[in-house]
Amino acid sequence: MLRSKLLCLARPRNGVLLLVLTVATIAVGVTAVAQLEYQSGIDWPMPKVVEPGEGTAPPADAIVLFDGTDMSAWEGGDWPVEDGYFTPRSGHLSTCRGFGSCQLHLEWATPAKVNGQGQRRGNSGVKLMSRYEVQILDSYENETYPDGQAGAIYKQRPPLVNVCRPPGAWQSYDIIFHAPEFDAAGKLTKPATLTVLHNGVVIQDHFELQGETAWLHAPAYTAHGEKEPLLLQNHGNAVRFRNIWIREL
Ligand code: MG
Repeated sequence: MLRSKLLCLARPRNGVLLLVLTVATIAVGVTAVAQLEYQSGIDWPMPKVVEPGEGTAPPADAIVLFDGTDMSAWEGGDWPVEDGYFTPRSGHLSTCRGFGSCQLHLEWATPAKVNGQGQRRGNSGVKLMSRYEVQILDSYENETYPDGQAGAIYKQRPPLVNVCRPPGAWQSYDIIFHAPEFDAAGKLTKPATLTVLHNGVVIQDHFELQGETAWLHAPAYTAHGEKEPLLLQNHGNAVRFRNIWIREL
């Protein structure tokens, strides 16, 4: 008799089994309700919709600095326009307006006819805030000091890799720059950083700059305004430039 009752408990009838399953289902449901989805609680504004450019064309919210014909964004040097590009004849070229933190796209090509070697071959440069230089150089089978080759933060950091195209070929830089910050006394409170993609490849990864680019001495910071002109360096070589646009960050 007792054995029969034990067997009965061990093998619940269909009704009991259904009850057990129902209780289990409710328990799972209660647990799910208890596990509320994480939300940050920050009331983010909805990001602005921006129409991207086709390929490397400027996105809708970019400031176009050079579209192949119009030089009105620039001043300072004599850089004649020809066939959709400009090239230095004399002086450095600066934007009329200043920029601080930004995303910058530009395309450049060193002379197809190789002339000179090392730093004398296809030299130019992009100077953020007229001070912090990302080197432009024909670094295709052209040896020079590593922190002076194409894509180097000049005399501070060589590029992670050399992705230079041959002389004459168009190449691109996509630069993300964060301007340095200074306190009221002119003391540096936050160094500048640079991320650079050369022909789509990361060659500088959020590098913290040691200061302004210098040739004769070590880099050092000097307090300056929040926005300063972008400068293209004339190093005496006929480097061509086209499709230049910038987005303020
Ligand atoms: Mg240079």
